[in-house]
Amino acid sequence: MAQAEINVMTSGHVDHGKTTLVYALTGVFPDTHSEEVKRGITIKLGYADATIAKCAKCGKRYTLEVAKGKCTACGSSELQAERKISFLDAPGHETLMATVVSASSIVDGALLIIAANEECPQPQTLEHLLVLQAVGIKNLVVVQTKLDLVDRLAARENHAQIKKLLAGSGFENAPIIPVSAVHATNISELLTAIQEGFATPARKDDAEPVMLIARSFDVNLPGTAISKLKGGVLGGSIAKGVLKEGDEIEIVPGFFSVKKERESYKPVKTRITSLSAGGKVEVARPGGLVGIGTALDPALTKSDGLAGNFIIKASSPYTLVNECAMEITPVERSIAKFSPGFVENEPLVFGAGTETTVGFVQGKAKGKGKKAFLMRLKKPVLVQPDAKLAVLRRANNRWHFFGTAKIV
Ligand code: GDP
Ligand code: ZN
Repeated sequence: MAQAEINVMTSGHVDHGKTTLVYALTGVFPDTHSEEVKRGITIKLGYADATIAKCAKCGKRYTLEVAKGKCTACGSSELQAERKISFLDAPGHETLMATVVSASSIVDGALLIIAANEECPQPQTLEHLLVLQAVGIKNLVVVQTKLDLVDRLAARENHAQIKKLLAGSGFENAPIIPVSAVHATNISELLTAIQEGFATPARKDDAEPVMLIARSFDVNLPGTAISKLKGGVLGGSIAKGVLKEGDEIEIVPGFFSVKKERESYKPVKTRITSLSAGGKVEVARPGGLVGIGTALDPALTKSDGLAGNFIIKASSPYTLVNECAMEITPVERSIAKFSPGFVENEPLVFGAGTETTVGFVQGKAKGKGKKAFLMRLKKPVLVQPDAKLAVLRRANNRWHFFGTAKIV
């Protein structure tokens, strides 16, 4: 099977039905995040693929994974596959917000899932909407779910609240599709909104490749003979360009170590020995999950040891920054009340790559404009031109989405 053409991120308040909806669309539960929550703010993005298909007879849409050969509406077996897409599960837990944002460079469209049986907006509904807006996601479909739990009047009221929430957000024309995920009602309408609203973007094969590593593995069984050991495997999505078998690559900022209480990162060079994207491929492109077999010592890649890093071509120029001036733009609407100005050494969390890093405010950056602050980062970040980082800041003892940052 080919690689998924686009990544669709799910977002929305916790318990509003993201996981259940992905199951209704793909027939699989995306990975749960309980382990990630326990481990702190490094998360593994969950991927679930599905192929959108249209019934030649009745025109209804469904996914091949769920329909299993027969149109769920009319029973016809004339199914026309249209496009393979990948759902990226983004956790609703507020401390994971920065990671949601940093995934935006590999996201082509987003679903905002809103439960019809609760007052709208709930805190994370608003926060996720602000994030999607701030990082420049253009394509949004709102899914009004749990429709089976409310009557017609309540559904209409909830719809009006959603409309009000979207007003002035830049997403006022986003379709709002009512569904029940547990009863699989209106899934055809939702798939049509995705198919028509999230076009596969034109990709440039000759762009300098950048891939975000979401997970890394050691695929060898314990006790494998050294001569039979397979190299470390990296999984994630390509943000731009293409990667090929045989490419010499560099992983940055690289392997983390602490020696004599000093933290450091060491870039790692290797070669791509195999590629998979929905099956074995020779060239991998932006879109769904890509698995990269490498010549690396599997000890480096085991247990997500290299997650959060970037893959670039070994020859390509890059800059890693620890100390930098950042222009910080707060969001206009926020659910948190932040204190004005920053205090000396105030910690902020930045979303970069598929990981987050903590930065400490060192005061104003002179000569760089009013919004620029000098920042000392715990973990160096790869600077991509025009990249926007998400900024989280503490208010009332919680991390909240604060705005976006650009290195200047
Ligand atoms: P998540 O935290 O957003 O991933 O939410 P889940 O998918 O885990 O759903 C939370 C709860 O809502 C679960 O008990 C689901 O069974 C339930 N749920 C999700 N979607 C629906 C729906 O469409 N109808 C009903 N009745 N329950 C739903
Ligand atoms: Zn049909």
